Amino acid sequence: MNSLLSLHNVTKNFAPLSAPVVDDVNFEVNAGEIFALLGPSGCGKTTTLRLIAGFERVNSGEIRLEGKCIESQSIHAPPETREIGLVFQNYALFPHLNVLDNVAFGLKRLPQKVRLDRGLEVLEMVGLAEFRDRRPHDLSGGEQQRVALARSIAPSPKLILLDEPFSNLDAGLRQSTRKEVRELLKDAGMTAMLVTHDREEALSFADRVAIMENGGLEQTGAPEAMYNRPKTPFVAEFLGKTNLIPGDARGDCAETRLGRFKLDCHAQGKVMLSIRPEHLEMIHATAGEKNAKLGKIVEREFKGHDLTYRVQIEGEDYFVQTDYRCPYQIGDWVQLKAVEPGVVLGG
Ligand code: ATP
Repeated sequence: MNSLLSLHNVTKNFAPLSAPVVDDVNFEVNAGEIFALLGPSGCGKTTTLRLIAGFERVNSGEIRLEGKCIESQSIHAPPETREIGLVFQNYALFPHLNVLDNVAFGLKRLPQKVRLDRGLEVLEMVGLAEFRDRRPHDLSGGEQQRVALARSIAPSPKLILLDEPFSNLDAGLRQSTRKEVRELLKDAGMTAMLVTHDREEALSFADRVAIMENGGLEQTGAPEAMYNRPKTPFVAEFLGKTNLIPGDARGDCAETRLGRFKLDCHAQGKVMLSIRPEHLEMIHATAGEKNAKLGKIVEREFKGHDLTYRVQIEGEDYFVQTDYRCPYQIGDWVQLKAVEPGVVLGG
């Protein structure tokens, strides 16, 4: 893979004695890739994005674009020279300009005709050429975000940075706009980095995701691999509901409070396992193994297409997800069985 953007030991402190907001961060974004930086509010995502865009200075480390250093303690390429496009949550369109003039705005150095031709070309790409004469406030939120994307694509930047770009849209529009924007970026062969706290958004939008916590990166990988093979309890829990179960590992199995679990890798000694609710199965108390521990169903959450049960075993809660036909009710006694290997955290 061809790395377009790379961060090397990037650290940012806003005050000399305070903890770094971005702490020794390393990652690469490949050419043509959509990369997402995902983490809870305040973990340092936007600061990382602003360092890449050139709006903040690093305290140490280096940022490279196409192999060339654009940011370090001694180097600072001004933002307007970095050839990086930006798309924000609030679209930041000029209300007094029509759609075409908004899109052509970043092409000021080109002759008028070339600017408008390029503006129209990009508007066609995002399917909004017919709205060229409208003002932004006459468009829906999703359309405004596509105009903002067109504006950032128009100067053919090397990289597009998207900061929570869908969070102003309502749930239905958010999903469809996300899909459209992903397709547009892929069709245009753009490299993009998204910053978001919304895990579903990151998992469905990006080719690769990096999870950030307290200024540092916890894990980077493809969405499915991250969901299925989290390396830390934080990543396991941030990407979805999970059961964290301590165990005593011997090779490819571990003894746990729920009985023997298969493991996703070889391990020895004390381990912490993550097992997703959809990877546990309930068996009625009378039909399971003789000596297995029994749990009582204490909660049943109906969500339409599926159900989540809370099962209590010796005072501990376990979550099990089933399809909508599951017959068990609150008060039933069940055994829990894993249908997938437990994921060894830190393994
Ligand atoms: P959110 O999802 O809420 O936007 P984030 O992960 O993007 O959060 P940042 O905006 O990068 O987080 O902020 C990280 C930390 O740095 C926060 O504690 C924030 O208060 C602090 N911070 C951000 N900008 C500044 C600044 N200019 N001066 C001092 N502290 C700042």
